[in-house]
Amino acid sequence: MCSEVKAAADQTFPEVLENIKEIRYNVENTAAKYRAGEPVRIMAVTKTVAPEKINFAVKNGFDLLGENRVQEYLSKKDFYDRSAEVQFIGHLQTNKVKYIINEVTMIQSVDSLKLAAEIDRLAAKNGRVMNVLLEVNIGEEESKSGVSAKQLLELAEQAAELKNISIKGLMAIPPRGADESVFAHMHELFLTLKEKNSPRVSMEILSMGMSGDYELAIKHGSNLVRIGTGLFGARNYNTEG
Ligand SMILES: *Cc1c(COP(=O)(O)O)cnc(C)c1O
Repeated sequence: MCSEVKAAADQTFPEVLENIKEIRYNVENTAAKYRAGEPVRIMAVTKTVAPEKINFAVKNGFDLLGENRVQEYLSKKDFYDRSAEVQFIGHLQTNKVKYIINEVTMIQSVDSLKLAAEIDRLAAKNGRVMNVLLEVNIGEEESKSGVSAKQLLELAEQAAELKNISIKGLMAIPPRGADESVFAHMHELFLTLKEKNSPRVSMEILSMGMSGDYELAIKHGSNLVRIGTGLFGARNYNTEG
């Protein structure tokens, strides 16, 4: 078993290496153009991707992984190169928080007070403070999770009362092919909350942009893009939404 994993860890994926170069190049150029070179962090989204391919990306400089399924993560995590930080980005049921509370450095997908409260409760129990982002359903799609733009301020205020979570910013998944105004709207919400400067709500991170729209997202204030297919290739099953 051990030698198998070791051998797998040494595997190389030339197409992934090409993708890494291209994405880095594009992200840097777009950040230079629209963000005065302010850094944009690139997350490797790992759903359906085999651990040896993920470890190859880590070896080639990716220090942030994004997981969206609790079950899948639990089955793969022991094979991961632990030098990378792992954040949770998928829809999270309150009864599954317990499985990841000590596994991830941030939960990006907080979209209700109920979920925030459960993360807070378990973080307290484990003697830690969990970093979170509030997820906004910016496209107002019924099939998508996220709090509505209208309810965001209220959620931020209420969640800020919870002492064992730390609100670091916002996350959004603009609809596929969304108009540029949707990205601009998300940026506006981010800036509005930032200007409010509420205690315990720090707007440091705007997590927006995937393989198909990360340049547009960076143009509109994103400083964390989440790339799956553009890095690892097409997935073999659909896990959107
Ligand atoms: C799958 C997923 C991504 C990555 O999407 P790609 O189009 O494959 O780059 C980013 N964020 C979330 C929340 C996802 O579920």
